[in-house]
Amino acid sequence: MIGKLRPVGNRVPAPLRKSSVGVFPWQRHFATEFTESGTDALAMAIALAVARSPRISEPEVIIPAYGCPDIVAAVLVSGAKPVLVDLVASTSFLMDQSQVIRSLSANTVAIVAPALLGCSERLDSLYDICRDRKLLLIEDSAQRFPPVSADYPWADAVVLSFGRGKPINLMGGGALLIRNECYDEARQVITSFPQSSTTTGLVWRIKRIAFNFLLARFPYFVLDKLPFMNIGGTRFRPRESVKRLDLPRELFFSGMASFFHRPLIYPLYERQLQDIEQLGWRKLAFNESDDEFERVQYPRIRYGLLAPNQSVRDRAERALNESGIGASRFYGKILPEIEGLEAISGRKGSFPAGREFASRLLTLPCHEDVRPADVELIAKILHDSSSPKDGADRR
Ligand SMILES: *Cc1c(COP(=O)(O)O)cnc(C)c1O
Repeated sequence: MIGKLRPVGNRVPAPLRKSSVGVFPWQRHFATEFTESGTDALAMAIALAVARSPRISEPEVIIPAYGCPDIVAAVLVSGAKPVLVDLVASTSFLMDQSQVIRSLSANTVAIVAPALLGCSERLDSLYDICRDRKLLLIEDSAQRFPPVSADYPWADAVVLSFGRGKPINLMGGGALLIRNECYDEARQVITSFPQSSTTTGLVWRIKRIAFNFLLARFPYFVLDKLPFMNIGGTRFRPRESVKRLDLPRELFFSGMASFFHRPLIYPLYERQLQDIEQLGWRKLAFNESDDEFERVQYPRIRYGLLAPNQSVRDRAERALNESGIGASRFYGKILPEIEGLEAISGRKGSFPAGREFASRLLTLPCHEDVRPADVELIAKILHDSSSPKDGADRR
């Protein structure tokens, strides 16, 4: 049957009853403020960092050179300057911490530590860097749930996103978690942002049904063919305004409940791709910093692999998509190579590790509709694409 397995995105949950609202997993350490998006939450966290240092006229924020362009939008809308840092190696999504330290200046106000594909940054050592210098450490957990800081409260602020393709899909929204000790000074900054509201009334319910329908294989196949949709394309969208959101609590708790009840898909990949590293591929470690974080296994948004080189990655990506599997190169480029971001930079000009990482990364679907037969097919295609002979035959 004609159809395509979408690359990412879980179904939007039906809202629970008000009575099923519980406590947040981070309740002991953080206060919660809902926002219009993850970008808005990050912008508020940066606004807070800027407000804490009123004497700095040109505040700077450290971010990784490979990552989500929305991070740049959040830094810019808060009047700060992004300072890019390369990855520690071409096979790791982690920031090079010696470069982080060398990139600090008297104007630095914050470090943003994103969990790429849900893989955690080394928050413990970033915390050490931030503490003595009084920098705000922001855990950008838009791609991960629950955030590391819920259990190990290293970050001063944590960002969550409830957009499409994020761990909890509420068709938009985000949250800023602020460490309790910082909350009093943060309140003034946060309440200075306007608040919009959302309801789960009839319009929302109809939108949810339509949205979930479009995730299925045949509708997604059609959507993917429409050129103006540009599904999955990486674009920089500047942010003009930042807003809080009066998100119904029961909606968040429905999202959290559906997240925790979701089947784990990545063990299927682990089983099928056992020998893939012998072909020069590399699995992205979910957690390179400390196994302690990962005693509990949570659903992931995508399964990440590094191909032996760019041509194998590109070949595998094409073959998978031709076979109805939504595989993706993810951002595909380091931030300064994305249209509209040419002017941003770091203390050093180039980012060789990030650039190579971008050229080798392949992400595979990990949502609730991935079936064992899909993973078997994916494993077969990856094996076939890795052999040079097959590539020669195809051209
Ligand atoms: C998606 C994302 C954001 C922005 O979240 P939105 O809700 O889409 O605005 C920020 N940081 C990272 C790492 C993301 O993946």
